[in-house]
Amino acid sequence: MKENSIRPHKDNALFLKKCIDDCRHFFKHKKTTSINCFSCNKNSLDNRFSKHFFNYRQCKICNSLFHAPRYTKKSFINYYQNSNSWNYWASIYFPKIEKNRIKYLIKPKLKRIQNFLKQKKIRSKSIIDIGAGAGNFLDEWRRYFKTNKICAIEPSHILAQKCLIKNIPVIKIPLEKITKVSTRPNIITCFEVIEHVFDPKAFLQKIRSLCKKDTLLLITTLTINGFDLSFLFSKSDSIFPPHHINLFSIAGLEKLFNRCGFEVLKIETPGKLDTEIVEKNIQKLMVTTNIKSFILQLLNKKTKWQRFLVQNKLSSHVWIYAKRK
Ligand SMILES: [Zn+2]
Repeated sequence: MKENSIRPHKDNALFLKKCIDDCRHFFKHKKTTSINCFSCNKNSLDNRFSKHFFNYRQCKICNSLFHAPRYTKKSFINYYQNSNSWNYWASIYFPKIEKNRIKYLIKPKLKRIQNFLKQKKIRSKSIIDIGAGAGNFLDEWRRYFKTNKICAIEPSHILAQKCLIKNIPVIKIPLEKITKVSTRPNIITCFEVIEHVFDPKAFLQKIRSLCKKDTLLLITTLTINGFDLSFLFSKSDSIFPPHHINLFSIAGLEKLFNRCGFEVLKIETPGKLDTEIVEKNIQKLMVTTNIKSFILQLLNKKTKWQRFLVQNKLSSHVWIYAKRK
């Protein structure tokens, strides 16, 4: 899989440009509040950089990186309801890449999950997918595991409608506002959402309230420990406000899950794109010529180097399997 198949350069550049305009429009000069590290609950955050009017700080204890001090929840709600960039993503950009995302992301994901379920002898009886988007994952899940016990949680009206067209039951409100679900599922998934949320601890605690004792939770996100994020850091297009405001370290993720009442079963980083992303963006870095030429030598062996990153939990795309304690 190439990055261009799931993030075509031209459309992505336009999306990022719209995001910058929206950062100015929805957040510049708006009120902020200080936050503690969501993992350690300590206020020992170092200033790291500022990007499009968003400050980022890094925890001295666990190394997780956050947008802090944080704009208010109200500003984020206003952004997600009224911004050009989010509307462009949901109604124009996403439909263009939908088919490729099913082929390159969702289908391999199902296989990987099935292997884990087999290993742990967990049955695929019922599932809730949080931030289900257009429902493609659940649609494929239903076919793959031959089950109809599926439910989407998706607050975006445009995307929730797409779930309904696919005949997927959908709860059309944000997770935070859900008081109960008709049946607690035995699997909950949440792909690439936690890096966006205003309060990750409250978010995970809310997920816990939807879990039965043995419910399996699978969350995927970005980690600041990974090669492309830690190497490109402030120059990375994945550290991009107002969307990606929580970039946890692996240690930070483990602490957060424990603090929210989950036992972590497994953490893995099965990313595929770190080396390609660093190669494409290396010119953005102010590094000495000898370091740059060494990195380019490493990148000549991209496939092997990416495999090494995955084997050593050093890719920026991380999966956490957990169950309620
Ligand atoms: Zn921390």
